[in-house]
Amino acid sequence: MAQTTPNHTQTVSGWAAHDTTGKITPYIFKRRENGVNDVTIEILYCGICHTDLHQVRNDWGITMYPIVPGHEITGLITKVGSNVKGFKVGDKVGVGCLAASCLDCEFCNNSQENYCDQVQFTYNGIFWDGSITYGGYSKMLVADHRYVVHIPENLAMDAAAPLLCAGITVFCPMKDNNLVGGAMGKKVGIVGLGGLGHVAVKFAKAFGHHVTVISTSPSKQIEAKARLGADDFIVSTDDQQMQKARRSLDFILDTVSAKHSLGPILELLKVNGTLVFVGAPEKPIELPSFPLIFGKRVVKGSMIGGMRETQEMMDICGKHNITCDVEVIKPDNINEAMDRLVRNDVRYRFVIDVAGNSSAR
Ligand code: NAP
Ligand code: ZN
Repeated sequence: MAQTTPNHTQTVSGWAAHDTTGKITPYIFKRRENGVNDVTIEILYCGICHTDLHQVRNDWGITMYPIVPGHEITGLITKVGSNVKGFKVGDKVGVGCLAASCLDCEFCNNSQENYCDQVQFTYNGIFWDGSITYGGYSKMLVADHRYVVHIPENLAMDAAAPLLCAGITVFCPMKDNNLVGGAMGKKVGIVGLGGLGHVAVKFAKAFGHHVTVISTSPSKQIEAKARLGADDFIVSTDDQQMQKARRSLDFILDTVSAKHSLGPILELLKVNGTLVFVGAPEKPIELPSFPLIFGKRVVKGSMIGGMRETQEMMDICGKHNITCDVEVIKPDNINEAMDRLVRNDVRYRFVIDVAGNSSAR
């Protein structure tokens, strides 16, 4: 088990889960001193990603307790190390899922640090000094500046926070599939209208595509169209609606957090269409072969994004004024928010008001 090293001298208050119940309680812990490559960040806001829920309950069997979750972090820089260029005290910044990578492999050299074999995450990772990483459900963070991005001036810090994970996770597969700045007017399907899904709808619309939401929740239909700008809405449990939409989509992004079959969803793709899977259910998903072979369809995965892409996405959000639809909560209400996330009762992301600046509920 990783040990806290001697230079972890800074006392920080945060919130942690201690066992598989996932119950979050206040937790005092230590962070490292600000190193030459580090910046220290006063955390203002942190989004509650469904990954936090998977992790605090040990859904994936990899959780090291106590766990301080949180990888959708926005805040203000309070200290910069002597090697740090491009950041200064007072800057509005964000930190997502990445805490460290080898900085020397083909992926790191190409700013695809997220695919580095030695990547370490913002929480539940093991940093180079052997310490366990603790995330953004806390008042302060020390981060290597290579994993920090600038937040455009015009974006609100609470509504921008989920862009650091939800945003970049849906941006990258769109970019990879030539939907950002490439051909417009593609038929794009977004499966699951949650934290990731609602940003995906906003992005796909901003990039000029025709967007169909594929959802298990009929109650989300009106808002999906009126607020988020979706063109069509299919209730995935309605066979007739699914049949009608067969072979209509060029590209599908599946953001669903629970086990489900890809078969009926693949039928919605045109011949040669691509489905990218970003949801991470704890159980294997069903992938029947017939819809694949009959439509020469492709299924791929994608994990968050690299640092260059994360800054690019942030700048695009600044340009188009895209942020997330958030419900800001007080730290005392994290458990209630997590219970509501389990019940799919959030429009569309909870964000913790860590610094106590908002009129959070
Ligand atoms: P979320 O806010 O809970 O949204 C997930 C959505 O999936 C729900 O809103 C719901 O949408 C749908 N859904 C839930 N249960 C379902 C079920 N049993 N059957 C069908 N649909 C269901 O979660 P999120 O924060 O967007 O995260 C989604 C998933 O992505 C999680 O597994 C998370 O760990 C993963 N993730 C992956 C990456 C990556 O890098 N690949 C990054 C971040 C998160 P409807 O009501 O519209 O059906
Ligand atoms: Zn996340």
